[in-house]
Amino acid sequence: MISNDFLERIFRKQILALSAYSVADAKDLIKLDAMENPYHWPDTLIDEWLEYIRGAELNRYPDPNASKLVETLRAVNKIPQHAAVLLGNGSDEIIQLLLMALPVGSSVLTPEPGFVMYKQISVSLALNFQSVPLLPDSFELDLPAMLDAITQHQPALIFLAYPHNPTANLFDLQAIEAIIQAAPGLVIMDEAYAPFAEASFMDKLPDMPHLLVMRTVSKLGLAGLRLGFIAGDPAIIEQLNKIRLPYNINILTQMSADFALSNNHVFEAQTAQICTERSKVLEQINQLEGFIAYPSAANFILLRTPTGIADAIFNALKQQGVLIKNLAPNKGLLTDCLRVTIGTPEENIFFIKALKIALNTCKSTPL
Ligand SMILES: *Cc1c(COP(=O)(O)O)cnc(C)c1O
Repeated sequence: MISNDFLERIFRKQILALSAYSVADAKDLIKLDAMENPYHWPDTLIDEWLEYIRGAELNRYPDPNASKLVETLRAVNKIPQHAAVLLGNGSDEIIQLLLMALPVGSSVLTPEPGFVMYKQISVSLALNFQSVPLLPDSFELDLPAMLDAITQHQPALIFLAYPHNPTANLFDLQAIEAIIQAAPGLVIMDEAYAPFAEASFMDKLPDMPHLLVMRTVSKLGLAGLRLGFIAGDPAIIEQLNKIRLPYNINILTQMSADFALSNNHVFEAQTAQICTERSKVLEQINQLEGFIAYPSAANFILLRTPTGIADAIFNALKQQGVLIKNLAPNKGLLTDCLRVTIGTPEENIFFIKALKIALNTCKSTPL
């Protein structure tokens, strides 16, 4: 077996100290942990898709620029004409590309709690990762603290998720604009949840050259394809394109995403259904004694349980066959917090029923 000495000699200490991104085993569970769209497509559409990809030339490298798919993405996402577009194997890959392109030792700034990959990749690249806590309960940006951090660290890059993950809110517009104004480097607006929110920075791109808008098809309903994109100033995108691996979007993803997005009405209907269900689930959680469900502009809800029982509720849900995300171990602003993805109406009803049972179990069992 290889010795620790060897590992320490070969790998960056930041990497040795990290843990791999962990994905819970969801076998036989109702999966409400990962912000996936619970719906697939009508059978007729699946047949059409299979017919379409029948022609895929798997023996050839895919189009390195995925030109056809980019045109479709531009139309569906209303990307401004002047902006250039770069595709990634999920937006995770784009986060990695952005961070890999920064000068050694650059600072990266984002609010916390936030999307884990910003930190994971920054730390692995030995960048100076800095985070500023959100305000308690409102989960709004702490603007003075963000501006102080900008002055102090001069971040080469700032990540803002809009709507935010794991809190599901849209940050105050004026606070965001003040941060964009003050930023000495790039500002990445991560719009992974744009399909569920009626807000976006896409149309602001022409006025703000150091702003980039990043999106993904994962939460929309195509998580299995692994496709994200970033839009912004052509000279900025050009630099990222230099370190993108030539064929990062495989042919099946290119063809399938293009096909799917050309049938965007299907996703529009699913998204509308998810938003309707979101209101119902939110209201039902809020009716439970001692629970708070925070307002959501995404396809998930952050909720707070009565003090000290989040772990027990999470486990009792799992026991009943429902997998959600336990955020309580993160402590801080997320003490007693759980995160649930909106599922089908049947799944949501089952979740609420299971949640009530879990609460009763906790009440009758002393901690
Ligand atoms: C899910 C998520 C991503 C990653 O999306 P992929 O395209 O699946 O890699 C990025 N940012 C945020 C805020 C997310 O919640």
